[in-house]
Amino acid sequence: MLIEQNSEINSGYEYSVAIVGAGISGLAAANKLRELSDEKGRKIKITILESSNRVGGVIQTHRFENYVIESGPDSFITKQKDALSLCQRLGLSDHIIQTQKERRTFIAHRGKLQALPDGFFMLTPTKLIPFAKSNLLSWSGKWRALREMFVKPSNNLFDESLAQFITRRFGNELYATIAEPMVSGIYTGDGNKLSAKSALPYFWNLEHTHGSIIRGMQKDNIHNLQNTSGARYGLFVSLDEGLELLPKTILNKLPPDSVRLVTAVKKAKQITSGNKSKWLITLKNAEEIVVDALIIATPAYKAAEILNDNHNNIASYLKKIPYSSTAIVNMVFDRSDIEHRLNGFGFVVPKMEGGAILACSFSSIKFANRVPSDKVLLRVFVGGVLQKDIYELSDIQMECLVWQDLNKYLGVNDLPIYSFINRYPNSMPQYNVGHQEIVASIEAMVRERQGLAVAGNSYNGVGIPNCILSGEQAANSVFCWLESQVVRD
Ligand SMILES: Cc1cc2nc3c(=O)[nH]c(=O)nc-3n(C[C@H](O)[C@H](O)[C@H](O)COP(=O)(O)OP(=O)(O)OC[C@H]3O[C@@H](n4cnc5c(N)ncnc54)[C@H](O)[C@@H]3O)c2cc1C
Repeated sequence: MLIEQNSEINSGYEYSVAIVGAGISGLAAANKLRELSDEKGRKIKITILESSNRVGGVIQTHRFENYVIESGPDSFITKQKDALSLCQRLGLSDHIIQTQKERRTFIAHRGKLQALPDGFFMLTPTKLIPFAKSNLLSWSGKWRALREMFVKPSNNLFDESLAQFITRRFGNELYATIAEPMVSGIYTGDGNKLSAKSALPYFWNLEHTHGSIIRGMQKDNIHNLQNTSGARYGLFVSLDEGLELLPKTILNKLPPDSVRLVTAVKKAKQITSGNKSKWLITLKNAEEIVVDALIIATPAYKAAEILNDNHNNIASYLKKIPYSSTAIVNMVFDRSDIEHRLNGFGFVVPKMEGGAILACSFSSIKFANRVPSDKVLLRVFVGGVLQKDIYELSDIQMECLVWQDLNKYLGVNDLPIYSFINRYPNSMPQYNVGHQEIVASIEAMVRERQGLAVAGNSYNGVGIPNCILSGEQAANSVFCWLESQVVRD
């Protein structure tokens, strides 16, 4: 059955746009199209096609009694403004919550937790005295790290791995002890393969613009302080009812029939209808839909499946982006069953420490009102590229390994009251060396296909703000293309 979205069924619409995927990227695209249609006075039929039975993709909040448990992401960064701005535009400002005061992060080091020195940001010490006093590195390791200010910038503008980049700038000890778990943990990836240019663009640029990351950050901090205006937020924020409030709010602002759940897209093809270029979408149930423009906001390998039959050149590049699988284990304990003071936001575990945990957030310390006051919510990341075997374990085996690590590092001495595991198969794109070149090729080929855009965490950043930006850019791009068609008619 072929349904043309611009036919009499949908009369009154000037354009039809289909969006594949109702994760935050697809929803941000839909929301931007809604805003553009209001601003420019255009009637756009938006149809989001989502294979699962809910919106939000990996953003999922589990709420019961007085518990707010994030099964996927738990916060977003405010330095990049796109998520904050979207929340504000959606009327969610009163729901934004700040992190509590204990902003310390711990690193697992020789079986114990050591606080990250004050002023340390991802891989960079910005305050000399706390760094010098820290027990995490030897004196020679600290000296080598501080010599970064005098290490000549590289001429290599192509790319290198995180391990090469950080070791070259700060030495191997800082890389293996602190930077590797802090940075590789974001991608649940392998520092020897991840691209410095794509995974750490901010630091990569500092080397090339300031000649040193430490010096660049010092100048940048001063600059940011001088230029901060409006509401001030900490580095990370969340939403009081959980992050799932964001996709749900977008959904509520869209016209009621905008989302089709349990509707998987099988393939898509550019066609000519009359003198116009359109997109023919085939669903898994064989239904066909024709639209003016198409945004594919799925992981890259899913986008590749959709384009493979008819646009194989784009698909062949989309397939080059690898993914890792990761799981979140949320455990609730009685506060009295944990010996550690929990005077921080959580800890990360370097590869050389071994064990099952990649990182653990003290979720109910980080954000208020997540659990009753006599309880503690711990949120643990496991799996990723380097621990596929742990991702594959049964729930009970995974829980036991996680508990053993919590017992070792935090002195947890009773079993959790609640424990939930959420697995995210092939959910974390790996921005390996050469990623930017792959993305540039995809973007160039997509630009050639009129009325097509791709969005999502596969391309220019995995964080929620990056995904929102990519969705909004995709919406702008198809909207401009549609408008340019009207002028030519
Ligand atoms: C466990 C975990 C924790 C994270 N923590 C944080 C964090 O704390 N802060 C942060 O900023 N970022 C975090 N991230 C990253 C961030 O949450 C994700 O990158 C982002 O939410 C991805 O959104 P997306 O819309 O691009 O993709 P997804 O959320 O994966 O959405 C894609 C959607 O497309 C649908 N789909 C796929 N194929 C088809 C098809 N053929 N037809 C129709 N629909 C299809 C899927 O069902 C899905 O709903 C985390 C990621 C993970 C996995």
